[in-house]
Amino acid sequence: MRYQAPKGTQDLLPAQARTWAAFRRRAQEVFSLYGYEPIETPVFELSELFTRSAGESSDIASKEIFSVRSIGALQKMAEGEPLKADQKLALRPEGTASVVRAIAQHNLVPQGGAPAKLFYAGSMFRCERPQKGRLREFHQVGVECLGATDAVADAEMIIMCMRFFESLGLKRESMTLLINSMGDENCRPAYTERVRSYLKEHEDSLCEDCRRRIDDNPLRAFDCKNESCRKVVDGAPRFSDNLCDACRERFEAVKGYLDAAGIGYTVDPRLVRGFDYYTGTVFEVQVKDGLGSQNAIGGGGHYDKLMGEISGKDLSGLGFAVGFERVMLALEAAGIELDSGAPRGVYVVCVDESVRPTAFSLMQQLRDAGIPADGDTQSRSVKSQFKVAGKGNARACVVVGPDELSSGNVTVRDMDTHDEQLVATGELVEKIQALY
Ligand SMILES: [Zn+2]
Ligand SMILES: [Zn+2]
Repeated sequence: MRYQAPKGTQDLLPAQARTWAAFRRRAQEVFSLYGYEPIETPVFELSELFTRSAGESSDIASKEIFSVRSIGALQKMAEGEPLKADQKLALRPEGTASVVRAIAQHNLVPQGGAPAKLFYAGSMFRCERPQKGRLREFHQVGVECLGATDAVADAEMIIMCMRFFESLGLKRESMTLLINSMGDENCRPAYTERVRSYLKEHEDSLCEDCRRRIDDNPLRAFDCKNESCRKVVDGAPRFSDNLCDACRERFEAVKGYLDAAGIGYTVDPRLVRGFDYYTGTVFEVQVKDGLGSQNAIGGGGHYDKLMGEISGKDLSGLGFAVGFERVMLALEAAGIELDSGAPRGVYVVCVDESVRPTAFSLMQQLRDAGIPADGDTQSRSVKSQFKVAGKGNARACVVVGPDELSSGNVTVRDMDTHDEQLVATGELVEKIQALY
């Protein structure tokens, strides 16, 4: 085979594409109950938008970004000319920065205006080493809410995320909801410093990545899956003991709302999200079976500074993203099927060439009446036309033959019961509709 899908990508074949559509539909249904509206942003943006918002030391900025260059920009690079910022483009590695950029650009939250509540669905791109459930092009749905300031918004977002998973068929008891507060500009710097000196003391037990993180961004060590690093991190100072009063009160309020809603959770002092922009409440949903150690199916949190980074105007935000491929693995493990199959249609069997124009026009009549209809386009024998109909799981076959047609009739075969009846062509649509 000369051409294959590039490494780390996959085709969504019809059954998977239908599943992705069902996943998006379900997201839209649940999120719209909470006042969210759809938004579509470009698949590529200025690189800087992503690298600055995720943090210069984040994995995204340092190694996972897919750069996009125009031919003109490539020529400039070849000639050794530096590129301007607007010539450095990147495929989006996540949805948040783009949505926040769009909200700022179109002033969707004017001074004193109501929060902007938006959801998105689409492909994201990261240049990771491909592994199970982690692709270079993957699919996500996510939401962002900009302008809400109260702790109730944090709780609402977490509840909405759990309701979405439940709407897909995942049982509440098969998931773990982890929450934490990452503090704010008041208390995070001092806490980060404490973690940094703690990690320095235990540097010998840390992996190479984590040793590098001590200076850049020590909290990222909390994410490390390395056994030895995890042991060190277990003994690290806890965020919950180092929050300022405002952060502690807010986190308590969020927990209170979750309790009131009957949403069970575990406070995980090690939970940090992989982007620098999070402040305050963060959360992650994990499944207990089917995904091994990479068991997170979604997560998000609160961010105070991202809008300021992007537009220069601070606006409190929060959001989460859910990975389609990960959730599919979890659903598979739980034996849940989102795809209800292709709709069953009618197959019009053409007995010989003389009746083809009639078969063609009957097929159009059926489609115009909203009934999926298909027919032969390869001059196959009647027998193999029936085979194709069976393979396509047709609900019925309409057999158009010259003898029956001379008296204005066709034969309708019910593919489930194998009953056949003669039907006048003028009554065909009605008869077929009765089968559904
Ligand atoms: Zn490590
Ligand atoms: Zn604080």
